Amino acid sequence: MSHRIIIGLEVHVQLLTKTKLFCGCSTQFGLPPNSATCPVCCGMPGTLPVMNRQAFRLSLEAAVALNCTIAPFTKWDRKNYFYPDLPKNYQISQYDLPFSSNGSLEIETSAGSRTIGIIRAHLEEDAGKMLHDENAGRNDSLVDLNRTGTPLLEIVSQPEMETAEEAKAYLEAIRLLLREIGVSDCEMQEGSLRCDANVNLHVARPDGSFVATPIIEVKNLNTIRGVERALNYEVDRQKVELERNLESGYWQIDASRLGRFRDYTIVPVAERRSDGTLRPVSKATAGWDERIGRTEVQRRKEEASDYRYFPEPDLVPVTVDEALLAQIRQELGELPAAQNARLQSQYGLTAYDAGVLSHQGRAFVAYFEAVANRCGDAKEACNWMINDLLSTLNERKLDIKSCPLLAESLGDMIREIKAIGLNKQRAREVYAEMVETGESVKQVIDRKGFKPVTDDNQLLELVRKAIAANPKAVADFKKGKTKAADAIKGFVMRETKGMANTETVQRLLLEELAKV
Ligand code: ZN
Ligand code: MN
Repeated sequence: MSHRIIIGLEVHVQLLTKTKLFCGCSTQFGLPPNSATCPVCCGMPGTLPVMNRQAFRLSLEAAVALNCTIAPFTKWDRKNYFYPDLPKNYQISQYDLPFSSNGSLEIETSAGSRTIGIIRAHLEEDAGKMLHDENAGRNDSLVDLNRTGTPLLEIVSQPEMETAEEAKAYLEAIRLLLREIGVSDCEMQEGSLRCDANVNLHVARPDGSFVATPIIEVKNLNTIRGVERALNYEVDRQKVELERNLESGYWQIDASRLGRFRDYTIVPVAERRSDGTLRPVSKATAGWDERIGRTEVQRRKEEASDYRYFPEPDLVPVTVDEALLAQIRQELGELPAAQNARLQSQYGLTAYDAGVLSHQGRAFVAYFEAVANRCGDAKEACNWMINDLLSTLNERKLDIKSCPLLAESLGDMIREIKAIGLNKQRAREVYAEMVETGESVKQVIDRKGFKPVTDDNQLLELVRKAIAANPKAVADFKKGKTKAADAIKGFVMRETKGMANTETVQRLLLEELAKV
């Protein structure tokens, strides 16, 4: 039975502000427990919140970069629930009038690029952190309120991703975009990017109607790999559930499932108990256990009414004018999607190459452009950067800004290597020496005495000699084993100590082999 996977992601990112959303406490990570707190974020009676303008500004920047429509008027709401890490017993969030909606984000997967819709992005405060001590053999739980009141941007995607790979690409695209524009560091291990993933399966029935499994929302995933694994696990689990429930006949339309699947979203209201009887179901929340690699259903999901939302009386609504938005648009500069398109049109790169470059961020792209302009060969510049420079940076745990090789030096190297026809293996030696010693390409080539054999006649001699010395390889080649030519080529390369131009040797060899 063929099914369609429907995935939506809700992402919370911590904004890069120095202080919290409604008080002046520090947002620095790793401070001693409860040291970054005050009466406001501890929810003491009589205290009043004051909005952090920088937090609002950063979230506007993110929403504009996500192509969202920005509301000219937005307000705050209280989301009420009880939990020990929430001292006020409500979270200040945005409910019916979020500051932004209707955005989009371009993602890249092995299947190409796709645009994923964004339902909304709103601003809210974070809760504190519970520390459960069972592992230390104790049965108490501790609360750290340092994180309470930290500004969070919640970004809700349309439920329109169809594979775990797309979900992963979506998260990577969000992380790249928000880092590039300086809105969040998106450090998942520090909790500044967290993800809830909701997933279910749709199946077309022969009569043209659709059935679906209940939506499961997997909460608080804090690695991209974890999101991928949890989704794959849930999809497999729901496949089994779907088979089991398909003949029950208890299905109804669920209008709460928005997005482009609105017109045919149908969710079952019943599932079979182990004794074979049916019981009603609704949306459910699950946790992901990274260690054992499975999801665990925790509770049936709350509806909005469970949170008794109402407008926050202690904060004034916020208005946003067109002048501010125009200024933000101008200051944001070139965003990853636009940059990707420009790299393809301006430098003739493939979508793949442009994607790899822009994935590394603006500074890396700027370096690439400097190299490409210096050497005049964008494709070669891109190859060297993707294959060699990236591994150099990874090995030395450096980023492009502290790269040991200047863009100009790499550009000169690529041009020189091409001009004298040095083969790839020797060129890599030159590159490694330049990185190691900081010498120019000319200095390295002189010191190493690399003088490529470029004389066609001399190479032709060697090719003929190689053919004569390798009768078996020649016979194999004639039988259609094209790989056999490599052995003959290797002979020439050894004779010239790797100084022969590979392309010339290849050309001459094919010409000569055709005559044998
Ligand atoms: Zn505070
Ligand atoms: Mn939230």
